[in-house]
Order: sequence, then structure tokens, then C-alpha cells
Amino acid sequence: MPDAALPSMVLDLLAASELIVGVFDERDVLRFANTAFENAFHLRPDGRSTWLDLMRANHAHRRGSVVSAEDVEAWLAAAKSRRGKLPFRAFEADLYDGRWIWMTETLLGNGWMLCVASDITAVHQDGRALRQAYDQALRTAQTDALTGLSNRTHIVQQAGQLIAQGCPFALVLLDLDHFKHINDRYGHPAGDEVIRDFARHLQASIRREDGAGRVGGEEFTLVLPDCGREQTEAIASRLFARVRASRPLAGAPAQGYTASAGLALHQPGESATQLYNRADRALYRAKDAGRDQWAWATAS
Ligand code: GH3
Ligand code: MG
Ligand code: MG
Repeated sequence: MPDAALPSMVLDLLAASELIVGVFDERDVLRFANTAFENAFHLRPDGRSTWLDLMRANHAHRRGSVVSAEDVEAWLAAAKSRRGKLPFRAFEADLYDGRWIWMTETLLGNGWMLCVASDITAVHQDGRALRQAYDQALRTAQTDALTGLSNRTHIVQQAGQLIAQGCPFALVLLDLDHFKHINDRYGHPAGDEVIRDFARHLQASIRREDGAGRVGGEEFTLVLPDCGREQTEAIASRLFARVRASRPLAGAPAQGYTASAGLALHQPGESATQLYNRADRALYRAKDAGRDQWAWATAS
């Protein structure tokens, strides 16, 4: 049933809509634009712009869609090659006013085109917030909260990756000496301060490609890619020298502390657990031999 009032009612509704609505004829001349369209794009006073005029003028006035190319004409040519070829097309675009839009183009057989765009800025921000939350969650899942070093899971992952890549590396296990005394004498918060101090010395002693993790209360692990005996010992001596000189407790300026270490070079074919166990046995030999020293793991 034809409804005489319908065409003008539809036009009034489109004019009032917050959607950006524009209609182009078969020669790509803009024949209808609602208020939202006029606000988003810079129009010629007579309103009779072609799509190309519109894009050029908008680029010049920094209105409408952002043209993200050095060569504007080449960008326009490429955009024109995609325009008006399909019955329906949709794409994202950003506007110079900072908004993101979801633009749709509906094409009739006679060449007339309806362009409708909705503001999706908020959706984009949600996406960004989600990505940031994911990054944050990932970082938290890999990080030891007290020291900011890698946690056990992450450092084990790093060793596993090197094994999978067939990259030679050294593993160093470290344990603070007589740490119970520090806790008993100065309290748990002072113990935590010593743990943080040790973590800072660890980070200062390793190279950028090395991994450092806190794997237990006062137990730490280093993963040192491409390190042979000499380089591993160079890193260990740097660390031991720093720790011996350290006096981290403001309330007990004379109190120092020491650590012991087990050093092991990964052997071809060895699993992460086997390597860890060898380094652990070496660590216990260092403790038995009097602490404040390192011991090399024996080959299995
Ligand atoms: P050793 O030289 O043989 O390693 O002696 P130790 O006293 O360090 O002995 P052990 O390594 O077995 O004990 C570690 C102590 O560290 C036990 C616990 O009270 C303390 N500890 C574990 N985690 C934390 C922590 O997060 N903060 C503090 N302050 N102390 C911790
Ligand atoms: Mg311990
Ligand atoms: Mg200890």
C-alpha cells in the first residue's frame, strides 16, 4: 500500500538522526546530507559537492575523514577505485575531529548511493582498554610483586624457550645466606628490604638479554643466553662484589648480607628440570663449603 506521507517522514527522520547520512547520485554529486553529515564534513555552501570535491576540500580544511597519505591525489585515486563498486561496503575511518566512524555504502543499480556512518569512538576505546587490561594482566602474571623481577613461571618459560631454540645458556641459582637471622633480628619488613636490594644488584649485574627471576622467598634464578664459564663467572663476580659491599638497612647501617650460587651450563639434550637439579646440587655444595661463594655443577 503506497503511503503518501512516508517519503517526507523518512527524510525528516534521516535529517534528525545522529547517524551521519549522505546520498550521492550516479555522478557522485551529494544530493542529501543531514545535520550530522554537515557537522562532520565541510560542504560547499550550495551543497552540490561531488565526492572528490568533498574529500579534497575536507583534507585542505582538516575536516571529515583523515587522509593518511603524503600524496593526497594517489590516496583519492585508491579510495575512488574502491568506491561504488559493490552493492554494499563497510569500513572504519577516523575523522579529523578525533572520532572513529563505521561507514557503510549502499549502492542501487541506478548508481545512487546511501552513505551512513555511526560513531564508534566508544567501542574503540573499549577495545583499547581491553588490550591495556590484557597487557597488564600478562605483566602481572609474569612478575614477582615484591621485586619486579620475573616470577618462577616466567623464568622457567625463558629457560624452556632457549632449550627449544637450541641456544646455549647458563643457569644460575642463588640463595641468600642465613636469611632467617636477618628476619629474626630485624623483622620481616627488613628482610623484604634485603630481598629488594638483592634484586636491584641482580639487575645491575646482568646484560639486557639475561633473565632474572625470584623463584622463592629468598631464592633467585638467572638465565644467561650464550654464556660460557668465563662470562657466567664474570656476571657472578660482578654480583657478588656488589652484594658484599651492600648495606641496605637504614636502621642497621653496619649490617651486610651474602649469597651463595650454583652455576650450570645447559648440556645438549638436557631438560630444564635436569639442568635445575644440577644447579641446585651445586648451590648446596657452595653452602656446605662455607657460603658467600659459587660452585659449578658437575656434568650429569
Ligand atoms: P641458608 O644460608 O642455608 O640459606 O640459610 P637461610 O636462613 O637463608 O635458610 P633458608 O634459605 O632455608 O630460609 C629462608 C628463610 O627466608 C625462611 C623464611 O623465613 C624467609 N623468607 C622466605 N620468604 C620470605 C619473604 O618473602 N620475605 C622475608 N622477609 N623472608 C622470607
Ligand atoms: Mg632458601
Ligand atoms: Mg637462604
